[in-house]
Amino acid sequence: MNKLDTALVSASLREAGFGLTDTVKDADAVVINTCSVREHAEARVLSHLGHLKHLKKHRPGVVVAVVGCMAQRLGEELLAHDAVNIVCGPIQIPKIAELITDALAVNGKELAVTEKIRSKAGSQSDSLERFESVFSGDGEGRSVPGQAFVRVMRGCNNFCTYCIVPYVRGPEVCRPPEAILDQVKHLADQGVKQVTLLGQTVNAYQYESGGKVRSLADLLHMTADVPGIEWVRFVTSYPDPAFFDDILQAMVDSPRICNYLHMPAQSGSDRILAAMNRHYTASAYLDLLARAREVVPEIAVAGDFIVGFPGEADEDFEATVDLVRKAQYRNCFIFKYSPRPGTTADQRHADTVSDEVKQHRNVALLAVQEEISGQLSQAFLGRTVKVLVEGLSKKAHVNATDEADHPQLVGRTSTDYIVVFNGPISLAGQFADVTIDDVSPLTLFGKLIG
Ligand code: SAH
Ligand code: SF4
Repeated sequence: MNKLDTALVSASLREAGFGLTDTVKDADAVVINTCSVREHAEARVLSHLGHLKHLKKHRPGVVVAVVGCMAQRLGEELLAHDAVNIVCGPIQIPKIAELITDALAVNGKELAVTEKIRSKAGSQSDSLERFESVFSGDGEGRSVPGQAFVRVMRGCNNFCTYCIVPYVRGPEVCRPPEAILDQVKHLADQGVKQVTLLGQTVNAYQYESGGKVRSLADLLHMTADVPGIEWVRFVTSYPDPAFFDDILQAMVDSPRICNYLHMPAQSGSDRILAAMNRHYTASAYLDLLARAREVVPEIAVAGDFIVGFPGEADEDFEATVDLVRKAQYRNCFIFKYSPRPGTTADQRHADTVSDEVKQHRNVALLAVQEEISGQLSQAFLGRTVKVLVEGLSKKAHVNATDEADHPQLVGRTSTDYIVVFNGPISLAGQFADVTIDDVSPLTLFGKLIG
């Protein structure tokens, strides 16, 4: 979601006549896109701002804009920071180029935030819709060649008790399917081969027009039918049996709809799930996975977990470990609970689990997952997989390669396995076939075919 927002901001700035500099030192304006989901992300922004405050001592004319969720959450408080000129929440992002242009002219303090987004979401979404349609096609804003994100819904109505998202991104709004489809066609014209449809509870997408209700499954089919689009993914799914079966069926019906499901469980303890306001039990969640595997045997599943939610006892954590073992995820994202001011969890409960215990549980759960990922990876030995090549691998930058040698590239399978192999960099953004000859829990290694 944030990568897409960054791409939209940079595309709109380019259109307004700005260019991207290589370093902050050369910039007239600095834009920081922010995340509020955990305190750590916010702490990093504050540390960046500390550096910028220093920079501004020498170059007081530099305009610093903080955009996104943290800007929305902290508003005036952030604007009071010595380094900050502009504070702009996610819903006002369409105004960012104008705000920066004005600020460069007056170099004063500007504010574009904390109007009550809930009451204003209706009128705001028109300008957001236009903004999104116009700028999402800008290829230079995309970090990975051949791939693009397309938002299908904004905001969230779920109010999981730990989560800041509904407060900073506002209520759920589904975008019209026609707008989404136009965008996908435009992206395909530019050579995009993989589209990822984005929403906080993307499987619950629904849009009614002309007496017809379109679901995520409809959108997946519409997207997969656009000439040039080879792979369609979607994130993130909420474990809800009402929005599940037709999506699995879509995977069966279309080879272009990736057999990949990112469906966070957050905890394996029913007591904690209830306290989180997640509307399912651990066994209901596992039932969904069983159904998914019955319909789509090859499906790769990823999950998110929060460890150390207030009141999480050893038994609760053991229940989480148990769920992770049963779920057989290809990959898990594990987070230590981070109290978010204003959320129900933070108001109701103290942050009772010590950081030491959170850290311990985080490491323990990762170890369990690593063992499972390792086993799942083993099954790929000797197999040839199709990957969409992203570019140079991280290691490629360290290993100075001979001009004649091919550098190390990284790509992903349709089921989101990371594959590392040597090949020409011209493959970035293209598909390649790779035979796997070595594996680690999170990475498959192989040789390019042909
Ligand atoms: N809409 C998605 C999640 C969006 S936030 C969903 O419901 O699945 C991404 C992940 O961050 C969440 O899945 C959760 O695991 C984690 N997260 C959210 N709030 C958090 C908090 N306060 N502390 C720690 N992790 C959190
Ligand atoms: Fe946050 Fe829950 Fe909405 Fe996901 S579904 S964004 S965790 S409130």
